[in-house]
Amino acid sequence: MLMTTLMCGAMSVVMFSVYRSFRREVHGLGHWAAGLLLLVCSSLLFGTREVLPPALSLIAANAVLVAGIGLSMLGTEKFYGLAPSRRAYFLILVLSIAGSSWWLLVHPDFSARVAVFSLLVFLFYARQVQLVWHHGERHFSSFFFGALMLLQAVVVLARGVSAVLHGGASVNLTVTGTPAGIYLAVANFMALLLTVGFMTVATRRLQQILERRSTHDPLTQVLNRRGFGDAYAREIGNLRRRRLPLTLLSIDLDYFKSINDRYGHAVGDQVLAHVATVIKGALRESDCVARFGGEEFVVLMPDMPVHNALGVAERIRALLRESSHAGLPSCTVSIGVACQASVVEGLEELLSRADAALYLAKERGRDRIELDAAALTADRTMCAAGIGTVR
Ligand code: GH3
Ligand code: MG
Ligand code: MG
Repeated sequence: MLMTTLMCGAMSVVMFSVYRSFRREVHGLGHWAAGLLLLVCSSLLFGTREVLPPALSLIAANAVLVAGIGLSMLGTEKFYGLAPSRRAYFLILVLSIAGSSWWLLVHPDFSARVAVFSLLVFLFYARQVQLVWHHGERHFSSFFFGALMLLQAVVVLARGVSAVLHGGASVNLTVTGTPAGIYLAVANFMALLLTVGFMTVATRRLQQILERRSTHDPLTQVLNRRGFGDAYAREIGNLRRRRLPLTLLSIDLDYFKSINDRYGHAVGDQVLAHVATVIKGALRESDCVARFGGEEFVVLMPDMPVHNALGVAERIRALLRESSHAGLPSCTVSIGVACQASVVEGLEELLSRADAALYLAKERGRDRIELDAAALTADRTMCAAGIGTVR
């Protein structure tokens, strides 16, 4: 028990340090860290039974224990993006203190005290099982955390039921005996395991956030160059298997510098975010869009023959011309369209052909779409040979 208390203290320090580093990214870590600290305090209070009046130290220790377990529940709620049920938390806390005091001081009844205490703590665990069930991702980390929480809920409930059915002696942790020993061992071990379980789901969340950060543009939330490279590699794999045309749009805002100069950089940023939203809205689920730095966007459209791609490009151009969002200045775009010429062609070559078409659009007056000279033949050849080339 001493070892577990020390380990809980150590885990609390770990949790606090993770909380300090990632409090914005992963919610609930602070509550879990504070909850663990309260579990340590509760163990220490249990240890003061020899020094303080036993009833007082027991009531205090139980109250701190319930407060700690409840904090972990609030933490799990925050982790899944829900508002913490503070009212239920305080209600359970008050009920547990009142129950402990009543059945210790006024009307001593050990089995009633254990039964009610177990039921109240069970509610905290059961709520977390429900949270993982409803909001947990289909991933090992959630299964692990959820299974541990379920096991803990069952153990706590079993103790309460045992107190009711077999009387207080069967669940008295202060006397040495097999059931009490097993319960103490499991409960202590579970406090640690549950923390590990929560750290597992938190680490998984962090991994997803960092992965997203490394592949997405923070301003517009579309892919960045790296994420686009990954998406392109996946599509080339599909192209080799299914031989369907793959089309790329290179989109550049016209005279964007003048928007910055006239309205300021912050408005320029909003325009960029709006343009990204409009482009995404004009695409299918399977298409992907990226911001290649500055005011340049790239769209990759699998299974998209060139004449359809021109239609999409036209839709984007028209939408941007027409849309004026929340008082933002409207803008126009120039678009270059290119098609994957063969399975051996690389992304850089495809991009440079789309860029060449884009520069042509700029040269020819902007707010227009130009097709790469190679696109039509590539489309026809690819479709005929099963690997579209549209020149
Ligand atoms: P063109 O029609 O020839 O494309 O003209 P342009 O003004 O759009 O192009 P230019 O390359 O001259 O200027 C691009 C501008 O984009 C300059 C730069 O200040 C602005 N810019 C680049 N990145 C950002 C950004 O993240 N936010 C904002 N607000 N502006 C940016
Ligand atoms: Mg531009
Ligand atoms: Mg540019």
